[in-house]
Amino acid sequence: MASSRSLTSDLQAIDALFAAGDLLPRRRRTPGQARARRLRPSEQEEIRPQRPKRILKSRLELVRVPAWTTWSWLVHGFSTRTGGVSTAYRPSQRAGELNLGFAVPDTRDNVHENRRRFLEALGCGSAGEPITLRQIHSSLIRRVGREDALRTDPWKADGIMTSEPGLLLAIQTADCIPVLVADTKKRAVAAFHAGWRGTLRRIVENGIGRMRLEFGSHPEDLVAAIGPGIGTCCYAVGEEVRSEFLSQFVYAPELFHEVSNSDPIREKYPLLFLTQRAPGHSSLGPSLHLDLMEANRRQLLDAGLPARAITVIGDCTQCQNNRYFSFRGEQGFTGRMFSVVGIHP
Ligand SMILES: [Zn+2]
Repeated sequence: MASSRSLTSDLQAIDALFAAGDLLPRRRRTPGQARARRLRPSEQEEIRPQRPKRILKSRLELVRVPAWTTWSWLVHGFSTRTGGVSTAYRPSQRAGELNLGFAVPDTRDNVHENRRRFLEALGCGSAGEPITLRQIHSSLIRRVGREDALRTDPWKADGIMTSEPGLLLAIQTADCIPVLVADTKKRAVAAFHAGWRGTLRRIVENGIGRMRLEFGSHPEDLVAAIGPGIGTCCYAVGEEVRSEFLSQFVYAPELFHEVSNSDPIREKYPLLFLTQRAPGHSSLGPSLHLDLMEANRRQLLDAGLPARAITVIGDCTQCQNNRYFSFRGEQGFTGRMFSVVGIHP
């Protein structure tokens, strides 16, 4: 497979040829872009992988929802991979990384230091460790209180909520979708971990129901943020995943896209290849992609949240692998990020 550099020089060489002949290419695409097709062929669209952002590897970066900073009682933030002390996952890189999950091969000291830096950046330097979960891709949800901050053995669950000031709740991810929710009237908060299994089990939809039960929340008073996770651009899944979703959600067909990875040179100059292959027929077979962010947005809508109350950060962890840890992007050898929500004491 051609490297992107040689691909670029190939494209430049062909561009030069066209320029010499005073010809204009029919259309332009950048390497790595994929052509996508909805399941209904009449509604064709493109899924554009994200262009990686330029990032400063030494800087700790917090991703936040600007509108949420107007509530002074509310703490929230999504971590990235930059600005820490861990070197386990990219040993050749000079700048340390912000791995926030305890796991081999990183050291506990590194993770503690990373967590300290992250909490300081959040403005919660004096808060204790956030309450984390042993995440198991379930629809189990725990309401926690002060006594849970002292537990050494985390609860097995994928949703966590509290109305107690001074507690921070953290979901750990590296591709799965983190969802933060806050009740702006009752001052309660929740965080959910939604991979495909948890999404299928309606972790977020059930979570909003549980907030109504536990805190008397009204969905119209809730705000939600869907954090960085694997985008539909990168999240190829098996046919069995589609079958499972089709059995659970009437809108499931809208969550899946068939994507053919295209060759940028063929895409840009289809006439050059006309004799070899019919246009639109890629040499690679189509793969099925799932839009997990949209799936969770739909659950929030179904639970009664107004569309305007839902913020989708939209960053794809695999496309932006220099900014975020990505389990798939790094074949499972990667760190973990935090999505944190809490109530200032
Ligand atoms: Zn992507």
